[in-house]
Amino acid sequence: MHWGNQHRAWPRMITALTVAMLATVASLWLFMTGAPHNSDADLAASRLLSQSAGQIDPDYAEQPMAVRPAPAPIVITLTVDRTAPITAYLEEAGMTPAEAARWAASLTSVSYSRNLRRGHTLTLYKDPEDGSLRGIKYDLNENIAFRERSYGDGVIRAWQELITYVIQPVAVSFRLSGDFNRDAARHDLPRPIVATLRSAFAARHPLNRLPRGADVELIYQERVSRDGASREITGLEAAQIHFGAQTLSAFAFRDASGRVHLYDANGAALEPASLRFPCKFTYISSGFTFHRYHPILHEYRPHLGVDLATHYGAPVMAIADGSVEQAGWCGELGRCVRINHHDGLISIYGHLSAITPGLRTGQPVRVGEMIGRVGSSGLSTGPHLHFAIEKDGRYVNPLTASLGAHNHVSPRMRAVFERFKREYVAALDRLPAFSGHFNVGHQGSTALAGGAPGATGSVAVSGASASVTPALAIRTVSDRPLTR
Ligand SMILES: [Zn+2]
Repeated sequence: MHWGNQHRAWPRMITALTVAMLATVASLWLFMTGAPHNSDADLAASRLLSQSAGQIDPDYAEQPMAVRPAPAPIVITLTVDRTAPITAYLEEAGMTPAEAARWAASLTSVSYSRNLRRGHTLTLYKDPEDGSLRGIKYDLNENIAFRERSYGDGVIRAWQELITYVIQPVAVSFRLSGDFNRDAARHDLPRPIVATLRSAFAARHPLNRLPRGADVELIYQERVSRDGASREITGLEAAQIHFGAQTLSAFAFRDASGRVHLYDANGAALEPASLRFPCKFTYISSGFTFHRYHPILHEYRPHLGVDLATHYGAPVMAIADGSVEQAGWCGELGRCVRINHHDGLISIYGHLSAITPGLRTGQPVRVGEMIGRVGSSGLSTGPHLHFAIEKDGRYVNPLTASLGAHNHVSPRMRAVFERFKREYVAALDRLPAFSGHFNVGHQGSTALAGGAPGATGSVAVSGASASVTPALAIRTVSDRPLTR
């Protein structure tokens, strides 16, 4: 397959995607040469790029203060598979020779080497909006990295820094010998990952009903501090469970909405894209009407939402992904939260007794995330949730409104999803059968996990016309469980 021909048809798709761990140089080239795009929707999607399943390097947060913060970069991490001049890599990544020479000269000034060496990790930070290179990180060894950054107008600065953590992909495969939870614990599967799998597959095949002999394969990521003392699970990347003639699949993918979700092999979302109601309630005490007798004001006025009667303190959840438009006091509605979703939809939650601490304007929220608790603040006769939906500035009946949920990978992202899926599946297929815990191709993980040195992941470097080759090399780290 020739990516050089394909990418021209894709430039708009390219912007909203990322997959760091699995990037090949071929796909890297595709990332780097993405043409600029102007659609507002694309820009909005790009600005939403904030966090993905472990793929964004949080260390990159050090940015100069700006009136409008730049959107988070697309992060591409790969392991250098041959020793070659820095310029060669950058040119393969789509830079012009002149650009590559400038970046290479700057990096050389701090690293005292013109080459990138085999087995070391290279991270590229790309502007999601115009495709330009914003920064480079090159790990010299487990403790020292060289960073380089563009400040615009051709100004590039390079410096050396201590590495404080690594993002470490971990692959696990095992054959079910009985109860899923027990086997998962025996194979050291972290609880957040078990919970993710459970909810992802709940509707298709509950994990506790999997037959003995089912083969479980998955890859997740963790963020490990340099001294190995702290580990944080950053999310499931991919999972497949084979039993009989069936395969359950889950692939993390960032769709046009800018959020990472899990999808099955057909591109259908595994998690609900929206909740029917934001809280559990006993009955609807007041419906949506333009003409209601108000119990406190004793006059007829519109009631442009529904009142969900429930107990004081009941948790209130965001009904869909979005960002906080307002969290605070809203007059008659008392303590309230407004969440801005895509497509001109806003959901409103009123009379809260409490708003989840730290919830601030502009902050992204995910479907099902708790935003506050039911109360009776504002103009209210007793504990209930006033729940309303605004569409294009007008209130609509929340009992009949559709949130326009994205239940599938969008058509324009489809080809990209298919390619990621292929790479994930190839990586899962390469897991040694049923043998436990592996670390996946991260140069820095060796010392942390106490395994044999030297083994690294590899990235196929064979130019832009290369076929897609999984970028993962699998190796067993240790016979003993990883310490957590
Ligand atoms: Zn109400």
